[in-house]
Amino acid sequence: QSGETFEAMNPALTEPIARVAKAGAADVDAAVKAARKAFDEGPWPDLPASRRAAVLYKFADLIREHAEEIAQTETRNVGKPISDSRDEVGGGAYCFEYYAGAITKYFGETIPVSKPGLDYTLRVPCGVAAAIVPWNFPFAMACWKVAPALVTGNAVILKPASYTPLSALWLGRLALEAGIPEGVFNIITGPGSTAGNALVAHPGVDKISFTGETTTGTQIMKQAAEDIKRVTLELGGKSPNIVFADADVEHAARNSVLGVFGNCGQDCCARSRAFVEQSVYDQFVEAFIDQTRRTIVGDPLDPATQIGPMVSLHQRDHVREYIQLGQREGATLAYGGEVLTEGIYAKGAYIRPAVFTRATNEMRISQEEIFGPVLNVIPFTDEDEMIRQVNGTRYGLSGSLWTNNLARALRVARRVRSGVLGVNSSSSVFIEAPFGGFKQSGIGRDLGMAGLNNFT
Ligand code: NDP
Repeated sequence: QSGETFEAMNPALTEPIARVAKAGAADVDAAVKAARKAFDEGPWPDLPASRRAAVLYKFADLIREHAEEIAQTETRNVGKPISDSRDEVGGGAYCFEYYAGAITKYFGETIPVSKPGLDYTLRVPCGVAAAIVPWNFPFAMACWKVAPALVTGNAVILKPASYTPLSALWLGRLALEAGIPEGVFNIITGPGSTAGNALVAHPGVDKISFTGETTTGTQIMKQAAEDIKRVTLELGGKSPNIVFADADVEHAARNSVLGVFGNCGQDCCARSRAFVEQSVYDQFVEAFIDQTRRTIVGDPLDPATQIGPMVSLHQRDHVREYIQLGQREGATLAYGGEVLTEGIYAKGAYIRPAVFTRATNEMRISQEEIFGPVLNVIPFTDEDEMIRQVNGTRYGLSGSLWTNNLARALRVARRVRSGVLGVNSSSSVFIEAPFGGFKQSGIGRDLGMAGLNNFT
């Protein structure tokens, strides 16, 4: 309503690619009123689950039909390699299909109470749900929240991050065609500090599902407490990558590279602290750096590229400051860390992934979420002491451990205070499985059947 706009940028070239409406409090109010009306007056929440499922299946088909355009949009706006964007858009469509299939197998309980009669639980929608998402996986995260919120009968307001508003707008464009009734799905583009804040504070919102930084999560939780809004928070991480000497160390090292440097390290699950058993420490570091050297950092639109630029020059400079901090703290910069400015890198927010050796878990570079391509490799000799250090952060989101000893894998996985942990794998996110953090990494679980509980 203000008529103001802001620029969406391409971080590979540092040039604007679109002008986007800058919503203020009046737009948020209009969106919430539209959602409120759609929820309170129906018919969306009252439709049979199978009818809402049919709309979501159609939505998924439309995403697949436009997959290449959405992936191109995502890559141009986020700097994400096009192969990653294609995977994430496909994953977004699958997420709609998963929840379309799940909703007809989702039910309450009958409870044998102690007096005559029938007691049962119903899974009912929260009402108006706000979904606030970050810039690192904009399309994927929007789908993770929007699909389960819609299929359970909520009306939804999506707020994408200011750096990356464009792929979310694709969802808006496809929604009406898919058959989502007017008012049921709304999108607000604008700054978190004003539009986001107005959404969180709005009395017409019943539920907030947020993914972003822990500090923002704290603020949102405090504000939501004012009128007891339901909250789900997916926050930061500082995840471990534990390598035991009995693992296939070469395999572990080579498969760990994208586990920390994928998405240019802008990943809440980035395994940014490697704990490597002393006897294989040098072998791991050598193989890891060798594999990093072979990993292609380049133009995100080139299908061969594995690591693109960071989302902005600001974020790149922030990471560079952490690399300088690590050197001041006494860690050894064994590889990379330099800002790339020549040739194809000249205009973009590029930085070469950095590997620190001789790092300790107490250093700030091991404690703070850098959100960029920086790995600290920390040696260990004793399992108990290593687990104490692994758990010695405020976060607990993800991680991996590598061993060929099954008993050790089960024992250690249980003791690591992380929401998810991969064994001999750098994966931790599956549409079908719950995902979320311990400690200050968040509250509640996205994805899987747990994602439906979030919105009921
Ligand atoms: P932010 O917390 O800065 O922003 C996330 C979203 O919240 C954006 O849409 C932002 O808008 C909005 N926002 C900011 N301030 C407010 C506010 N006061 N009220 C309401 N909304 C607000 O995080 P980043 O975008 O920097 O994302 C990176 C972070 O996300 C990292 O810490 C990362 O670990 C975490 N993350 C966690 C994941 C998980 O599942 N646990 C997954 C992916 C990322 P705007 O962009 O306009 O500021």
